[in-house]
Amino acid sequence: MIMAVVPIVKIPDEILNRKSEKVGKFDDETKKLINNLLDTLQAAKNPEGAGLAAPQVGILKRVCIARKFLPNPNNPNKPLIQDVVLVNPKIISSSKESEPGWEGCLSIPDAYGKVQRSKKVKVKALNEEGEEVRISASGFFARVIQHEIDHLEGILFTSKVMGNTITEKELDKILEKEKNS
Ligand code: ZN
Repeated sequence: MIMAVVPIVKIPDEILNRKSEKVGKFDDETKKLINNLLDTLQAAKNPEGAGLAAPQVGILKRVCIARKFLPNPNNPNKPLIQDVVLVNPKIISSSKESEPGWEGCLSIPDAYGKVQRSKKVKVKALNEEGEEVRISASGFFARVIQHEIDHLEGILFTSKVMGNTITEKELDKILEKEKNS
């Protein structure tokens, strides 16, 4: 298989602030974009990403990947990863209940912040085969989906952050403290 890792667009590139277009025909170009997004997300280390949207590789199409972390029975410290492809995703319902949680973004180096998001969302989309799927998401996966769909609207998490963003170093300190308290 040919890996197609493409460069990730970073702020302040204004393409990140633009709205993406719906995918009309699910064709080879769509499949190529999906594969590029999967390969690029899977290649991202330090930091790893929890998702990636087409504008982040410079394409204004409504395609994104939301990463699902599943418990690993063999190693509790290394969750299993499932990359969920969403083409033309649409949130069809979201819980009134929301919660704050930490977010970062591969397009915004070394910035983390707390964002208030719905705890649960239901999404309608096409999968990597072009088939219609409905996904019920909760917890961190629901957060990732909302973050990625925001990218398709040209919205970055930093515009929703409560207070200021902090660096990875500062975040690590806070998470360490939370773990020990
Ligand atoms: Zn992002």
